Amino acid sequence: IHPEEFRRFGHEVVDWIADYLAGVDRLPVMPDLEPGALRTALPDRAPESPESLEAVLADFREQVVPATTHWNHPSFHAYFANTASGPGILGEMLAAALNANAMVWRTSPSATELEEVVTDWVARMLGLPDDFRGVINDTASSSSLYALAAAREMRLPESWASGLAGAPPGRIYTSEEAHSSIRKAATTLGFGRDGVRAIATDDDFRMRPDALRDALEDDRAAGVRPVAVVATIGTTSTTAVDPVADIAPIAEEAGVWLHVDAAYAGPMAALPEFAAHFRGWERAHSIVVNPHKWLFTPMDCSLLYCRRPDQLRAAFSLTPEYLRTPELASGTNLMDYGVSLGRRFRALKLWFVLRRFGVDGMVSRLREHVRLTRVVQGWVEATPGWEVLAPCPFATLIFRHAPADLDEAALDRHNRALMERVNRSGVAFFSHTEVRGRIGLRFSIGNLRTTEAHLRRTWGALESAAAEG
Ligand code: PLP
Repeated sequence: IHPEEFRRFGHEVVDWIADYLAGVDRLPVMPDLEPGALRTALPDRAPESPESLEAVLADFREQVVPATTHWNHPSFHAYFANTASGPGILGEMLAAALNANAMVWRTSPSATELEEVVTDWVARMLGLPDDFRGVINDTASSSSLYALAAAREMRLPESWASGLAGAPPGRIYTSEEAHSSIRKAATTLGFGRDGVRAIATDDDFRMRPDALRDALEDDRAAGVRPVAVVATIGTTSTTAVDPVADIAPIAEEAGVWLHVDAAYAGPMAALPEFAAHFRGWERAHSIVVNPHKWLFTPMDCSLLYCRRPDQLRAAFSLTPEYLRTPELASGTNLMDYGVSLGRRFRALKLWFVLRRFGVDGMVSRLREHVRLTRVVQGWVEATPGWEVLAPCPFATLIFRHAPADLDEAALDRHNRALMERVNRSGVAFFSHTEVRGRIGLRFSIGNLRTTEAHLRRTWGALESAAAEG
């Protein structure tokens, strides 16, 4: 398009974004639609002739936005609540404009080196030792897959050339509460159905180190080659914290790779009062932390820290002639650290966020989210008929409505129904989890616009939905 047309619609889009962010709390969090609603409302082919940007933007406002679940809404509490902050959105816009593709150093020196700079900054903010090198991936699922590929490289180096067929069976050890991405990674890496051994957890949903030690010993005796232990700081279901300080020596003794999944809770390492939860993580081979979860950065942005980047390169470096450049040995080539060749300039949005908030700004917002969560916890604990189902170390509370006259099966149905009632109302949005066989609501606070007033409104909606039976 003509530069002046771009300028005009660029201003219009920025105005729309500013109004959207200022008024997002007036929209329903989740649209009350059935699957297929948007698809059937739109044409089944691209237009033959060009359309005006006016028409496209009108349809965006009238068709796309009403079919959107607003993750940026202050009453979004499902999964892990997050925020695409203003600075992050601006960085993302500029990344699209530069359209940099950081395959090798020369295809984007800025994207390559800013990625090194911001991952170092975050490592320092989180107190990680200097020998952790960071790369940015799309998601924690990819980051953990790559970490475990590096682990396979370390423990079963012959597999790169000859596959796993003739190798001893490899296995990954993680708690029964670990995220499903670990099992998905194990399957993708060819470890098969038995490639993950789920380690039992204690009453607080934390991996039991004694059970890990027993599993490693049994398996070694049975001819299995342990490949990696994956500990989680902030599990998906209840945000439990595995005792990494006790797990690390067991992994070291077994000679296996230790990967720490701190996709959600990692940013909390910047808060000194939370240091106990992170004890031992500095002994890991790799760590994943997602700024798109709880560091105010728009989707997608996942940091993989690795203190054996040589093993990552061993797993992924494969340079055909057409990608050979004079700087191949002297510069970082991000294509060597994962499956994708083409890589977005994700560092730019994170750089904007880190600079505009500053470490102090980040820390104070995270602290506020924890404070707000304690407020909600206080309401749940003080209101008859409601109960907290799991310890709450961070800012995600698991609870349920448990009227005394219902048995366990009825309580599950009741809580699913009340969640659906609130979600369909558009007032707030929750997800659920299963805690030792019981259905609980997950109330995650991670949005910068969430205030106590929003929370009071949501609590009112939950209480009315519960009263409806
Ligand atoms: N690890 C943990 C602990 C998570 O909670 C999640 C998602 O919620 C993931 C990994 C996967 O994250 P992603 O969506 O970035 O792949």
